[in-house]
Amino acid sequence: MDLFEHQAKELFAEYGVPVPTGKVAHTPQEARAIAAELFAAGSSKVVVKAQVLTGGRGKAGGVKLADTADEAEELAGRILGMDIKGHTVHKVLVEEGSAIAEEYYFSFLLDRANRTFLSICSAEGGMEIEEVAETNPDAVAKVDISAIDGVDRDKAREIAVAGRLPEKAREGAAELIERLWAVFTDEDATLVEVNPLILTAGGEVKALDGKVTLDDNAGFRQESHEALQDKAAADPLEARAKEKDLNYVKLDGSVGIIGNGAGLVMSTLDVVAYAGEEFDGQKPANFLDIGGGASAEVMANGLEIVLSDADVKSVFVNVFGGITACDAVANGIVAAYKLLDERGETVDRPLVVRLDGNNAELGRKILTDAALSGVEQVDTMDDAARRAAELAVGAGARQGAGNNSTAGA
Ligand code: GDP
Ligand code: MN
Repeated sequence: MDLFEHQAKELFAEYGVPVPTGKVAHTPQEARAIAAELFAAGSSKVVVKAQVLTGGRGKAGGVKLADTADEAEELAGRILGMDIKGHTVHKVLVEEGSAIAEEYYFSFLLDRANRTFLSICSAEGGMEIEEVAETNPDAVAKVDISAIDGVDRDKAREIAVAGRLPEKAREGAAELIERLWAVFTDEDATLVEVNPLILTAGGEVKALDGKVTLDDNAGFRQESHEALQDKAAADPLEARAKEKDLNYVKLDGSVGIIGNGAGLVMSTLDVVAYAGEEFDGQKPANFLDIGGGASAEVMANGLEIVLSDADVKSVFVNVFGGITACDAVANGIVAAYKLLDERGETVDRPLVVRLDGNNAELGRKILTDAALSGVEQVDTMDDAARRAAELAVGAGARQGAGNNSTAGA
């Protein structure tokens, strides 16, 4: 999970990492009030910053300085609603402006390839670090961190020296780096990045920007992290699927996909996209892995989520029986239809089912005997994908031009 800048800074502050004072505003009026407070407290400038989960806001015009509360309000009005690399700005951070003397770069990250933690430090901050690494690789220091020894003040100094931070900023940076290490480890982060880390005209070292990625796998021991999630940005279907413990990702096509096993579902997406080229460019509408169990309830929940997507015109259920055999999955589908009927969510779009693997024959017989309306069985994955794409076009055509039947065309 990626945090917004203001959340990252709130976290930094809890750990004693110096950050500019500021608050979040959702409207220009709120921005004005916060700015007025900051000016009253002695700020000579305030900065209004778009809060979106992407970098490069400065370049996109999402970071602006104001001299008065009026100006802050006006800037917030311009920045709110702005689109930055596909992210709509719903909130801005209004902060005391900092007098920047120098801008550096600092980060901790998980170096998966080398199975270690890594810190990156450079005296060339502010711009994208990838760019610096390309044009001036010597200016970017990478220092390995032992998971056992971690980062104490000496190690933090070593990092600051390696990054060639000037003498005057070194001690402040080392203190800040040591504290960021506590953020990184105590919060189970996989990335903590500060760009720019600044030296102010007054000689202080501060985090002027913050990017934090938290490890979702540590959620079980980080109760406070759930509250940090951006509910507004999450796809509503994905949020519902998550509540039901389903591994669902919304895509923008018309063929609903349900499969067991992430690998099988991934290849199903490819096969459907390929088959869809013949049928007016139909594409998969989602990724949904119902995993090993595939009980009636899981199948019912899966179907319900997939069918809640109005763009879905047909559904392809692709199952390779393993430990959970095809007969169990077939029974799951039959029971799911009943369950959905009872919930008043009758399946109203065609379903193409391909069962293969363990007990495939038995599974197919169960489905044939159940004679569920709208369910067709196709023996191979390719043929089933083609049929599902064909049905998606057909259903779209029947329902008229008002429907979104040409998704991806
Ligand atoms: P990003 O573009 O998304 O990385 O946003 P940043 O928070 O890093 O801001 C971009 C740039 O805006 C920084 O590198 C600074 O040069 C500038 N900036 C941000 N806040 C201030 C501030 O308080 N005072 C001044 N003078 N410049 C700022
Ligand atoms: Mn930045």
